[in-house]
Amino acid sequence: MIHYKSAEEIELMRKSALLVSKTLGMLAGEIKPGVSSLYLDGLAEQFIRDHGGIPGFLGMYDFPNTLCMSLNEQVVHGIPSKKPLDDGDIISVDCGVYMNGFYGDHAYTFEVGEVAPEVKKLLRVTRECLELGVQACKVGNRIEDIGYAVQQHAEKNGYGVVRELVGHGLGRNMHEDPQVPNYGRRGRGKKIQEGLVVAIEPMINMGTHRVKQLKDGWSIVTLDGKPSAHYEHDVAVVNGQPEILSTFAYIYEALGYTPESPITGKAIHDITQ
Ligand code: MG
Ligand code: MG
Repeated sequence: MIHYKSAEEIELMRKSALLVSKTLGMLAGEIKPGVSSLYLDGLAEQFIRDHGGIPGFLGMYDFPNTLCMSLNEQVVHGIPSKKPLDDGDIISVDCGVYMNGFYGDHAYTFEVGEVAPEVKKLLRVTRECLELGVQACKVGNRIEDIGYAVQQHAEKNGYGVVRELVGHGLGRNMHEDPQVPNYGRRGRGKKIQEGLVVAIEPMINMGTHRVKQLKDGWSIVTLDGKPSAHYEHDVAVVNGQPEILSTFAYIYEALGYTPESPITGKAIHDITQ
């Protein structure tokens, strides 16, 4: 059953989403070669607690940490480790927060040092997939229109769209109905209605879409060992249109740049704001 949110509930969810966004912004300034993902995890937990939130992933389904930290060929659900990051790595950081009765859930794939041009392209195209997915999340469309938009753009660029893991409704629970796949057919699935809040999260692989789980019981990796990217926004349907509750603005502020969307020409975190 889908729990549609009132305007008041969406305002509370915006606060949860903003705390996750600020946490990722704080991490943006700390991610560099030589730093371990476990160290970054500790910083994030402290930051969230200092700002009145509770880490949303810690203990959920027995996950041991605050952040999912997925390195290079890891797609999602990577466990933070003591291994230092290397120049040229990419690391997908997925963060959840629980605050005021609602969850925020937000992810960004960061470059560590200098990253190869073909990997930069994967990251850019995956951000574009997210943007196109968000734009499709509006009244008049259906849920699979979101995945259709993501899949078309990814596959046009020769990339694989992960099937096994999907976006989801978000609210008083981290994972609510409906599921939001990153693939789909036009005009299929449930009608998108006012008050829907979903986490839209393309997971796009440079090579095959196929993935497997590592023996740690968590990490999902690409079957061919090629890199994978993951970006996630929390999106509410307000006045029939998508409104992004999370933001990459803090990340871009920390990194000192604001990429423009090649699709809309607007600053990428201002797409619907
Ligand atoms: Mg997430
Ligand atoms: Mg999610």
